[in-house]
Amino acid sequence: MKDPASIDLPRLADIRRDLHAHPELGFEETRTAGIVAAFLRDIGLEVTEGIGGTGVVGALRGGGTRSVGLRADMDALAMPETGTPTWASTIPGTMHACGHDGHTAMLLGAAAALAADPPMGNVFFIFQPAEEGRGGARAMVEAGLFDRFPCDMVFGLHNMPGLAVDEMAVVAGPQLASSDSWRVTLRGVGTHGAKPHLGRDPVTVAGHFLAALQSIPGRVVDPLQPAVVSACSLAAGDPKALNVIPDFVEIGGTARAYTPEVRDQLETEIGRLAHGIAQAMGVEAEYTFIRRIPPVVNDPATTAVALAAAKAVSRGGVREDFPPSTAGDDFAFFGQEVPGAYVWLGNGPARDGALHHNTGYDFNDNAIATGVAFWAEVARRALSA
Ligand SMILES: [Zn+2]
Ligand SMILES: [Zn+2]
Repeated sequence: MKDPASIDLPRLADIRRDLHAHPELGFEETRTAGIVAAFLRDIGLEVTEGIGGTGVVGALRGGGTRSVGLRADMDALAMPETGTPTWASTIPGTMHACGHDGHTAMLLGAAAALAADPPMGNVFFIFQPAEEGRGGARAMVEAGLFDRFPCDMVFGLHNMPGLAVDEMAVVAGPQLASSDSWRVTLRGVGTHGAKPHLGRDPVTVAGHFLAALQSIPGRVVDPLQPAVVSACSLAAGDPKALNVIPDFVEIGGTARAYTPEVRDQLETEIGRLAHGIAQAMGVEAEYTFIRRIPPVVNDPATTAVALAAAKAVSRGGVREDFPPSTAGDDFAFFGQEVPGAYVWLGNGPARDGALHHNTGYDFNDNAIATGVAFWAEVARRALSA
């Protein structure tokens, strides 16, 4: 293992805070990608920009036949920051509330550490755009990421509040759920609110549909299989027109699962309820299910490499029984192409209760040392696996 003392932690923290102050949304990470590319060139790596939009890959070619991919995401979220660090966001309505600023800085640190003491084999540092629901990983795969940079294994890492900054969690199997969207439009016949018999009221139908929705995870899916169906958006009528039954109701939501079978089931069953309840009550239903990202399922052999690396560098220990998250991560698209493992790195206690995607969230710079050491260690172990 490369001695973490040789990592320039103050410089990496400065980079992290600069990225935090200048957050960019998915596929708009031009400033961030420019900083990444300049840093990688400066340490002598071969740099390819513009892969899948604003994606950047740094290649450290050490000969040999084995190759490993290490992935960091670069994007921020469209939300305001309420925290007041001196490095708070300078871009209104945009903030790094998921810690991707830290992910980017740590992978740069790992690139520097590995470039200073190159292993035998090729290390590809993958800086991904647009993880937050905008399809950056898929765009990179479709741009030929693994044709241009073939990997034997690929690794992803995410910060996790609640774990100590020198603590990690590495677990085989499902880590993150599929993350899909669905929309239902219930189309009736609008009419006077006093004369419902002259129309077909879609609002009442929506009520029945929403009440029935939880029967899918509760009564249809195997109780031993996790599943989430949530309606998150509901729009109908006009609050200024309380005597008008509207023509239509639009409902939208999310669906989460850890297996392809349950994912298929959710797609089928939400539509079955929408069409069935609509038909029973005399309105029309339009239904679309949008497959966004598959579940992240850690490959056992790749996870074993990550676990050994984590144990070698995490002074606070490694959790091997960490529960999966119902959030999603499009690292899943990388894991579909190459055996992959996705691990968690502690971010310390949640400050003021702020978790991921909270307006007060901030990456903890004290985690950088463990993160960089893990990246360097897992690359070396994957190349000699
Ligand atoms: Zn996020
Ligand atoms: Zn994230």
